[in-house]
Amino acid sequence: MLDIQKIRADFPILNQKVNGKPLVYFDNGATSQKPQVVIDAISKYYQEINANIHRGVHTLSQLATDAYEIARGKVQNHINAKHAHEVLFTSGTTFGINLVANGFASILKPGDEVIVSHLEHHSNIVPWQMLCEKTGATLKVIPMNEEGELVMTEYDKLLSEKTKIVAVNHISNALGTINPIKYMIDKAHEVGAAILIDGAQSVPHLKPDVQALDCDFYAFSGHKMCGPTGTGILYGKEAWLNKLPPYQGGGEMIKEVSFEKTTYAELPHKFEAGTPHIAGGIVLGTAIDYMNSVGFENIQKQELELLAYATERLSEIEGLRIYGTSKNKTSVISFNIEGIHPYDIGSIIDKLGIAVRTGHHCAQPIMNFFGIPGTIRASFSFYNTKEEIDALVDAVKKAQLMLS
Ligand code: PMP
Repeated sequence: MLDIQKIRADFPILNQKVNGKPLVYFDNGATSQKPQVVIDAISKYYQEINANIHRGVHTLSQLATDAYEIARGKVQNHINAKHAHEVLFTSGTTFGINLVANGFASILKPGDEVIVSHLEHHSNIVPWQMLCEKTGATLKVIPMNEEGELVMTEYDKLLSEKTKIVAVNHISNALGTINPIKYMIDKAHEVGAAILIDGAQSVPHLKPDVQALDCDFYAFSGHKMCGPTGTGILYGKEAWLNKLPPYQGGGEMIKEVSFEKTTYAELPHKFEAGTPHIAGGIVLGTAIDYMNSVGFENIQKQELELLAYATERLSEIEGLRIYGTSKNKTSVISFNIEGIHPYDIGSIIDKLGIAVRTGHHCAQPIMNFFGIPGTIRASFSFYNTKEEIDALVDAVKKAQLMLS
């Protein structure tokens, strides 16, 4: 059992008033809050070991390099990658997906197919559309149903020897649906296609095991899992990372440079051009340690309790519709109230101290499916409480009264 008050004390930002009311932070899907250990680790890096990495012989540079590589090892252990050099530091999920999509430009031919799903965030749609435009490949889309689940029989039909890569999220940011990615990975491999998993919304809730999943790529962001913004990871199987061309050219990613020819560095450096977010990478390791100290079983238990409680309490409100009703979902509730624009509810409840996301959540195809401009999305983290959900329900009721 988690001692929630003790956990909340780890997050200084939670202990404040916003618009004169105690802050209720339910926008965890957009970014999580940061525990004190993470905030402290950032200052400690700049106070004690700040230096550029992988290039200096001096002591600070070595200390910073060691700390950065230790963090890479922590990520490797966390996601159970076979090799540390399969773990690339990036600026976030978006960067990781673009890196892979850009690399596939050297592989795809006209007539090849790329599969995404109706449930994707724009950052797992647009890079693939750009890839298709560049190469003459065709984009195929796995449809979703009214519950907000992907239709696996349709996925099976889309797969063929033309499919070169499938890109799908582990968990939908807009609806919270957990996709059957193990099935999808195995099916993609049956036709010889690669598969990238967008893990942006899964890593805050679970520990992915990339070897057990057998995915080819797994991309995620640090900032949604208690780490700093501007940090992220792209896991790629060694064979794929060796096959793909570098994404960006520059310092750090080369073996030798001359005007006639440049040769590239070994993994992971081939994909890590330029000075990275050194403090960010190191502190992502701290964030992972923190989450593991809370424990993913505890995190899931708390979040599922909050999801069940919030679903029940919000369902009391007349005219409220929840989008995304799969039994397989994480602690996200996307909803609307009949006749009221989501922005109006969001703005009023903000005045009552409650932070939710309103809009299309960078997932316009999902909104189009339901024929709505957007939703109100409350996304819960392990540091949230049932009392905060009560405050949300009261606030939404007040807003509804004011607006109808
Ligand atoms: N995919 C999903 C499912 C997301 O939720 C997000 C962030 N909202 C992204 C990709 C993009 O992540 P980032 O902005 O950190 O690159």
